Amino acid sequence: MTAFDLFDLAEANRERCRNLVKKMDCPKCGYDCYRDEVDVGVGIMYGPYGCMCGWSEDPRYDSSEGESDEQKKHPDYIVDSCGGMLLKEGVMEKLEHFGIDTTNIDL
Ligand SMILES: [Zn+2]
Repeated sequence: MTAFDLFDLAEANRERCRNLVKKMDCPKCGYDCYRDEVDVGVGIMYGPYGCMCGWSEDPRYDSSEGESDEQKKHPDYIVDSCGGMLLKEGVMEKLEHFGIDTTNIDL
């Protein structure tokens, strides 16, 4: 097997994985759902689908009916419905860095 064969095999695998990724409509509000995906070379790893309304495919991140379990566990972070987390202090620092007044912002 040559390097070109390996490249073809990897490209075929990526194409197969791309076809497996399907867009999902939110079962709660009908809007588009998103998820984080990363190609690790031998396949694609992905997180749960999530929607702007707070619905999440993973119940730990679902905030459509109020604060999610993960939001309760990590009060210093912004936890989104796709399982992403941002340190609130870091977000505030970035806002201030760009000259945005944060005195009335409560994350
Ligand atoms: Zn939704």
